[in-house]
Amino acid sequence: MALVVQKYGGTSVADVERIRSVARRVVERKKAGNDMVVVLSARAGDTDRLIALAHEMSPHPDPRELDVLLATGEQITIALFSMAVKDMGFEAVSMTGYQAGIITDHQYGHARISWIETLPVTEKLKEGKIVVVAGFQGYDDEGNITTLGRGGSDTTAVALAAALKADACEIYTDVEGVYTTDPNVYAKARKLRRISYEEMLEMASMGAKVLHIRSVEFGMKYNVPIWVRSSFTDDPGTLVTQEDAEMEKVVVSGITYSKKEARVTVTDVPDVPGMAFKLFDPIAQEGINVDMIIQGSSAVPGRANISFTVPKADYEKTMALAEKISKEIGAGYVHGNPNIAKVSVIGVGMRSHTGVASVMFHALAKENINIHMISTSEIKISCVIDEKYTELAVRVLHDAFELHKDPHNGIKIHEDR
Ligand code: ADP
Ligand code: ASP
Ligand code: MG
Repeated sequence: MALVVQKYGGTSVADVERIRSVARRVVERKKAGNDMVVVLSARAGDTDRLIALAHEMSPHPDPRELDVLLATGEQITIALFSMAVKDMGFEAVSMTGYQAGIITDHQYGHARISWIETLPVTEKLKEGKIVVVAGFQGYDDEGNITTLGRGGSDTTAVALAAALKADACEIYTDVEGVYTTDPNVYAKARKLRRISYEEMLEMASMGAKVLHIRSVEFGMKYNVPIWVRSSFTDDPGTLVTQEDAEMEKVVVSGITYSKKEARVTVTDVPDVPGMAFKLFDPIAQEGINVDMIIQGSSAVPGRANISFTVPKADYEKTMALAEKISKEIGAGYVHGNPNIAKVSVIGVGMRSHTGVASVMFHALAKENINIHMISTSEIKISCVIDEKYTELAVRVLHDAFELHKDPHNGIKIHEDR
């Protein structure tokens, strides 16, 4: 008998009909002799609606109370789903994060799972029940309800799979797997049969929302193979797993985009030790997460220009802070742009191949798309561009790297070993 952890996303449980059809799928697997743990998201749109409601109530909703409110979305689906299963003649039990022993740190809105008490779930499994766990929520060591960040139900599922030593972890969503890019942006996107944890981690952190970043981190750390599948078809989907030699041969496996960031530039910063600290420490103290940072020399001798990106939601606050700091340290002026996007090219094969950057820059140049910032890692190159060109950039990059083709037929990148 195998233990299977499945997670169904918001579109898969959007209404009673879909909840019933997911319940049928789960019951089939149970009938086949498996122990089933099912993690559910809130119905599509419910979490957004709850956030809007909170902002109607208060301009700056209290973080603790906001998490109490957001956690209700998942309670609706686990209750409805368990009713459906019971009506089909099977035993089910819904469990909130608290009841399922999901313990987190104290960071409301983006809490991290620190421990899972497995006994409550395993006891219910022993009783032959289908265990239905609310995704996205846990509780801290003082008993407060916490949430794991948008898209966090994936993390609940993978963490549970790791803690319970499940035989399979399956993430059901509204697309048939992980694609070379967002299939809703480019129809030529190709579904990947397999992808390494590392590439998936990079894709998730660069904007591909198909898996929550921390779910991939858990998968990698505890070696949980993750299947990403559609809840509407029987396609086998994509396996997220350990890297192997075959994967290294593929230079570029995906293109991602993110419209979540804004750029801030401080000009003519005195080029002396300690300036970066003076600029970024107050920003960090405010809890603002700085992503890309680029420092270049200024036209004024002894001065440097520093550009960086922050979440769009923190743009105004960061601009005001940067203005203040800029005066204090005797820098030039501050300017920014909230209408930017980041497009990234990702692939573990970049470690052993050169020429990826030039193909990327050429493809963007041909479309007259200006690059504002560039950053690289071992397996990724990102460019900041004007937001209005995002979809176009994704498509031209996908074409330039010929991602619609099976990579084993070869692509036009120079290979240096
Ligand atoms: P769920 O509600 O099931 O968690 P999400 O909306 O969080 O679903 O994630 C699925 C969506 O991720 C897809 O509808 C798709 O638009 C988007 N997506 C972005 N990049 C990719 C990618 N590379 N492969 C597959 N889906 C992607
Ligand atoms: N309901 C939460 C959200 O919309 C968590 C999730 O769906 O994974 O972000
Ligand atoms: Mg999701």
